[in-house]
Amino acid sequence: MKNFYKKSFTLLCIVFLINHINTFAKNDNQNKLQSAISTPTKFIQQDFDVLSYYPKIHFVDIPNKKINAENTITFVWLMRTDTSKFYFHLRGLSIDSVFYNNKLVPYNKVGDTTSATYHFEITPPKLDLADTVQVRIVYHGSMTNEGGVQAWGGVHYQDTTLFALGVGFLNNYVCTTEHWMPCYDHPSDKALFQADFYAPEGYTVISNGIGSLVSKNNGISLWRYSLNEPVATYLLTFVIGNFEKLTFTGANIPIIVYANSQDTTASNYAFKKTPEMLNYFTEIYGNYPFESLGYVLTKLGSMESQTMINFFKPLVFATYSQKDSMNLTAAHEMSHQWLGNSVTPLDFRDTWLNESFATYSESLWKEHVLGFQSYLLEQENKMTKYFKNIVPLEGIIPLYDYPRTSATSNYPTTIYYKGALVLGMLRFKLGDSVFFSTLKSYLNTYQYQNSSTELLKSFFEEHSSQNLTQFFDQWVYKAGWPKIDITLNVDELPNNKTILHSVLIEQNNPSDWGLFLDLPISITIKQSDGNIIDTVVAMNGNALTIPFNDIPIDTVLINKGNKVKTLMQLQSYKINNLLSVQSNVPKPIHFNLYERNLSISLPEMNDEIQMRIYDYLGRVSFSENFYDKQEIFVNLQKLNQGFYTITLINKGILIYTNKIILQ
Ligand SMILES: [Zn+2]
Repeated sequence: MKNFYKKSFTLLCIVFLINHINTFAKNDNQNKLQSAISTPTKFIQQDFDVLSYYPKIHFVDIPNKKINAENTITFVWLMRTDTSKFYFHLRGLSIDSVFYNNKLVPYNKVGDTTSATYHFEITPPKLDLADTVQVRIVYHGSMTNEGGVQAWGGVHYQDTTLFALGVGFLNNYVCTTEHWMPCYDHPSDKALFQADFYAPEGYTVISNGIGSLVSKNNGISLWRYSLNEPVATYLLTFVIGNFEKLTFTGANIPIIVYANSQDTTASNYAFKKTPEMLNYFTEIYGNYPFESLGYVLTKLGSMESQTMINFFKPLVFATYSQKDSMNLTAAHEMSHQWLGNSVTPLDFRDTWLNESFATYSESLWKEHVLGFQSYLLEQENKMTKYFKNIVPLEGIIPLYDYPRTSATSNYPTTIYYKGALVLGMLRFKLGDSVFFSTLKSYLNTYQYQNSSTELLKSFFEEHSSQNLTQFFDQWVYKAGWPKIDITLNVDELPNNKTILHSVLIEQNNPSDWGLFLDLPISITIKQSDGNIIDTVVAMNGNALTIPFNDIPIDTVLINKGNKVKTLMQLQSYKINNLLSVQSNVPKPIHFNLYERNLSISLPEMNDEIQMRIYDYLGRVSFSENFYDKQEIFVNLQKLNQGFYTITLINKGILIYTNKIILQ
């Protein structure tokens, strides 16, 4: 393991350097001048690149979260100037000493704990010119969490279990691994991770990667974990408690679930489909990027910690009691292993990349197990929740770089639900084959690295040969959604028959949202004879009329078709009955039907008259056009006996209607 560990170091170093040079070089000068630490919502290139973390943590009082610990951070100087500094974050714990390549060095605190970038800095000793550096920080104290009304990120002791979650909802610094381990706590700098946990005998210690109980000494057990692929610090976790280990087989690697003994029955049910899930995601997203995968049940969650998901315990029971073995949350968190963990946002403006894809993965998992109709239904459920519950709470915010203060947060639900709908529309726009192959290729290209919205966009543009600027502008960068008004232009005939002339679609958005272009509008028409027309039209303006060939219909449904679910709000749905609307038109002078010879005298000369005669089922039985006529004569010999409706249309306007009975 140690050899591999070292080898990975070298490899990573190269990968990271290439990554930095290619992707970020253009920002280098600008950022250099600022010479500052990255903020949660702004990546700033640093002079250093962390290669690995190796914390050694002694849990001296578990209920009180007390530790004595040290962390060795290995990093490389990408460039070193007189002003170069190494930064690390740590909250709520006391630093005893800091060593730079084994030499005791001073450190400075920068900012206070109210600051989003509260951190410590070390100036490298002038005489130590080594490129690769080990900084060892010795620290102790009682671990804390983000606090506040809805404390989530950080360390908790609940239900006799001590555990850590790597992000917070309502703090201004997002990453919360700094509540238990000094680290450069920003998603842009991914590193390897190995950890030694010393805990009283009898406890199980669970963390990221592959680990085991290594030794026991004087009632203290040493558990060692290591992750052989880079990890963003916010994806680190540890859990200490009394757990049973359940193993689920059927995929390339076994899936481990850690549950308290009283939770094993429910867990066996709730996680039984996870091997199939892993096989499915491997099929669509490419090979699983890590060596292990597990879930650990905790009182708070769920969090996609790399290879060891903190799973919200109450959900296991909900899943079990409702006999819902789909376990969408297990699918959501599993998909994050590719989308978020293997490919990680450069900073938290791009959090939607993680959450929209993971939420969309829930729908895809449903599609895999239950079919495309279930997928569409799941997408519709998400849209309904978005409009009904989320918008009233969070307001109208974009997917990218959204506001974070209450009532939104670092993880507003908008980016989950709206995001899933947007990805469904991207899939529809590109087609299944291009969408899925591009996504797989993207995940492979950026494996273990960072990405951003712009990188994703340009990758998809390159692989689909489509310009996606408008798509990303209207759906990702801007807030809002299309508000649609529908008008059906029909004739309502006797016996409740309805003839559809056309469907008018109008987009009436608030002016600052602009018009949504290339908007897929799904129209489903149930005809009187039972046939169904299921079509999608692309809307590119504020109004669009779709003509239909005067078909008898039962119903017309919008956005309920079998191809795509569009994020849109149906504001109004009107039926415009042309017959009744025009009932006050002047009556003709004369109407005569004699032995099937019909004559109609109109009040004035008409340049074009379109005559249509419908049978009692609403089918067009007779149709003829007349030009420059005041008198119309037709012979209806060929029509069967029965009840008919006559209509005369001039320039699209109904000018006359009457009902006749042919003997
Ligand atoms: Zn998620």
